[in-house]
Amino acid sequence: MHDVVVIGAGLAGLRCAGLLAARGLDVVVLEAGDAVGGRQRTDVLDGFRLDRGFQVLNPAYPALRRSVDLDALALGRFPVGVQVRTSDGMAELRHPLRHPLSIRATVRSGLVSGRDAVALARWAAPGLARPLSNLATDDLPLREAWDALGLQGPLRTAVLEPFLAGVLAEDRGTTSNAFAQLLTGYFAVGRPGLPAQGIAAVPEQLAAHARDAGAAIHLGARVERLSTSGAGVEADVTGGDPVRAARAVVAVGPEAVSDLIDLTRPATNGLQTWWFAADALPTRSALLTVDGRRRGPVVNTVVMTHTVPSYAPAGRHLIAATCLLPRAGASAEEGTVRQHLGEIWGADVGVWELLRRDDIPDALPAQPAPLGPARSPRHGERLYVAGDHRDTASIQGALASGERAARAVIAHAGSPSRMRGR
Ligand SMILES: Cc1cc2nc3c(=O)[nH]c(=O)nc-3n(C[C@H](O)[C@H](O)[C@H](O)COP(=O)(O)OP(=O)(O)OC[C@H]3O[C@@H](n4cnc5c(N)ncnc54)[C@H](O)[C@@H]3O)c2cc1C
Repeated sequence: MHDVVVIGAGLAGLRCAGLLAARGLDVVVLEAGDAVGGRQRTDVLDGFRLDRGFQVLNPAYPALRRSVDLDALALGRFPVGVQVRTSDGMAELRHPLRHPLSIRATVRSGLVSGRDAVALARWAAPGLARPLSNLATDDLPLREAWDALGLQGPLRTAVLEPFLAGVLAEDRGTTSNAFAQLLTGYFAVGRPGLPAQGIAAVPEQLAAHARDAGAAIHLGARVERLSTSGAGVEADVTGGDPVRAARAVVAVGPEAVSDLIDLTRPATNGLQTWWFAADALPTRSALLTVDGRRRGPVVNTVVMTHTVPSYAPAGRHLIAATCLLPRAGASAEEGTVRQHLGEIWGADVGVWELLRRDDIPDALPAQPAPLGPARSPRHGERLYVAGDHRDTASIQGALASGERAARAVIAHAGSPSRMRGR
């Protein structure tokens, strides 16, 4: 019998397993997929690196800094700012403290009134200084918080709303204001990027740490049922032998957690990413680009290869375009997406080759207001739960939740010898 079985090798499960194994516990990880990573996977297709859905890694996340060697990831970093398609052309809004010379261009863009700039500063400042528990006091839906501050002009409608729609995977403004402030705070201090080998390099590094510490990771091992008995837990694996352990950490993601334990399925929001190959560049800018006129389904688009050239074979370019994937209602059609991209970039995108479309219905747990505190990992005498749905909908949340679950197991079970004796 193992000390701990961890179910799911996403960020939360891998981080948890690595910490437990480093404490000398006998840990086995069961992962249904054919590789570790969960929502962080990268596929190589005709020399292009395609992450399963466009996402970015913010090196400012504290749990990431604790758990991963960022230098080894060889991050390509996106410029800090956003490019906005307006009726008058493209406008660039860069971080005013990092690019003081950009302030004049920002003013000239007509997107930022003095009143909105003040309202934005008042809104964003707490996210830099206050912990989430503090931010979440008197939490409101984001839409209402902006209304209350008088943030109403194009800075909101043409820049912040389309930008945050891609980050939060919803565009109704129902997300917790505290969570949006927290994420914006991380954007203000960190410079997001992507590993040269793709986003999968993050979980691969965590898996290597866990294996080095002694954890076993079994791929293609889907747990169908989890039961507890006086002596421990038993995980029934599809087509395999049951795995027994003193304790189990369920780290399977929001869409699967209620299949294994008695927990209501967390609500989620979906994202859809379109990956295109191009021989000619639509822009020299590496900035994430949004449509300030909001004339179509694309919430953001970016030339990946400006930032991570290793994402495409030499001489070719990779472009990502992300849309929301509503649970009810139609998802975007290729023709509509191409038309919208053509309007955003002002380029002939009809010649771009569609490499792949990633539909991810459960991309992010919904984070409605009021945001509760991070949920306890303990779920009974021998069961623990980890994952972004227990914390915040982010890489930071998944890793922090995995850490919390590991601490809880260690606190309740004590040393390896004590654990085996129970
Ligand atoms: C398109 C997209 C964009 C994103 N963008 C960002 C971003 O820019 N910034 C950010 O911070 N976060 C972003 N995220 C969120 C981030 O990727 C996730 O929060 C994080 O990866 C979740 O990790 P997890 O371990 O909680 O869950 P998962 O990654 O979902 O891991 C769960 C694992 O459990 C396995 N599993 C499920 N059922 C079973 C079973 N029965 N038996 C065995 N194994 C099972 C799954 O195969 C999976 O490997 C994005 C996510 C997506 C999808």
